[in-house]
Amino acid sequence: MESADDYFRKEKDRSTSAIRRSETNLRRVLDSSPFPIIVSTRADDKILYVNKLAAEMFHVRLADIEGKRTPDFFVDPADREHVADVLEKVGEVDDYETTLRDGGGREFPALVSVTPVDYEGKAASFLTFNDITGRKEKETELMRLATIDPLTELLNRRAFNEQGERELARARRYCKPLSVIMLDIDWFKQINDTMGHAAGDHVLKELARIMQQTLRETDICARIGGEEFAGILTETPLGGAMETAERIREAIANEQFTYEGGPIRITASIGVAEFRTGDKSIEDTIKRADDYLYHAKQSGRNRVMND
Ligand code: GH3
Ligand code: MG
Ligand code: MG
Repeated sequence: MESADDYFRKEKDRSTSAIRRSETNLRRVLDSSPFPIIVSTRADDKILYVNKLAAEMFHVRLADIEGKRTPDFFVDPADREHVADVLEKVGEVDDYETTLRDGGGREFPALVSVTPVDYEGKAASFLTFNDITGRKEKETELMRLATIDPLTELLNRRAFNEQGERELARARRYCKPLSVIMLDIDWFKQINDTMGHAAGDHVLKELARIMQQTLRETDICARIGGEEFAGILTETPLGGAMETAERIREAIANEQFTYEGGPIRITASIGVAEFRTGDKSIEDTIKRADDYLYHAKQSGRNRVMND
């Protein structure tokens, strides 16, 4: 007859080996996880477990993790503190975006998640993260596509208006002058009609280059329509903007463009306006520059006009 003591001892052994089996199974799952996993003590960041991926990334040897502290994988130490703080106050960290550094020194954007767990009887943190380099690159590319004109690589109209509003706010705040120039190529349709659309495209690209070379780096240069370009000249009053516009006009008129061996000559008309305190938004200043551009066309083209 089995005594009660024997019965309980056997039961305990069975339970312990069941837990061990389930821990072994759990480890197998964690080891093959596609995400790096690090389990460390909450009290002093001592590593209790790393899966294979984390061990490879951070050059941590599985064999000698005993007593080691978690690697310094946060590029900004303040992020590490923030994560610990959130874990303490909120109870878990869910997809915190930060920059990490692997054992080879590569820095990469990542989403970090941390959950408190009980690991082998110790209060521990279960940390995992997702390398989002690919996603970030896609976001940057989408942002580029949304703001850049693919033919000339200048800003498009939308980005021009957005950045224009920002520059206007700055000009207001610091009481600095700001001017807008609007440019339209004269008789551009004829270029397409006589030399072909590709020749027209070539001219548009060259014109973008001239504008960019003439404007300063702090100015904003955009292609806002088919053969229409615009510039925002920061910290520039009307007089300075007129001089710059005249230089652009001259450079265009004097340039001998060539496409497939054939020479192309073009001219452009430009309207210039300075921001006035009565302007509600950059749109108002743009509208006035556009009106002067219209006057320049009416007055015979290849000229710069303002009020
Ligand atoms: P104006 O002096 O009055 O400005 O005459 P214009 O011929 O320049 O003006 P219009 O508006 O009649 O013609 C503009 C032309 O620009 C017509 C259009 O085919 C051409 N265009 C617009 N976008 C592009 C483009 O991306 N590439 C090329 N090659 N041509 C373009
Ligand atoms: Mg036009
Ligand atoms: Mg035109």
